[in-house]
Amino acid sequence: MEKRLRMRCSGCGHWNRVPVNKVLVEQDSPEPKVKVFIPMYLPLQVSKCEKCGEVIAQPKELIKIVKSGSVKS
Ligand SMILES: [Zn+2]
Repeated sequence: MEKRLRMRCSGCGHWNRVPVNKVLVEQDSPEPKVKVFIPMYLPLQVSKCEKCGEVIAQPKELIKIVKSGSVKS
């Protein structure tokens, strides 16, 4: 599931489009029989801000999906 995620540069505030894969990450849950998966985004390549060149996403950093946008884990 490849898509483009809008990410805001922390350096200059410019919005960039980052190619990502949506992945499900298993998380511990209080109930042992219940498996909890949280959706996260995995950047496909090192992405730099178009404006200032700062690295805003890289493949080893999963991006957690939150309602108000996205936050680096
Ligand atoms: Zn920037």
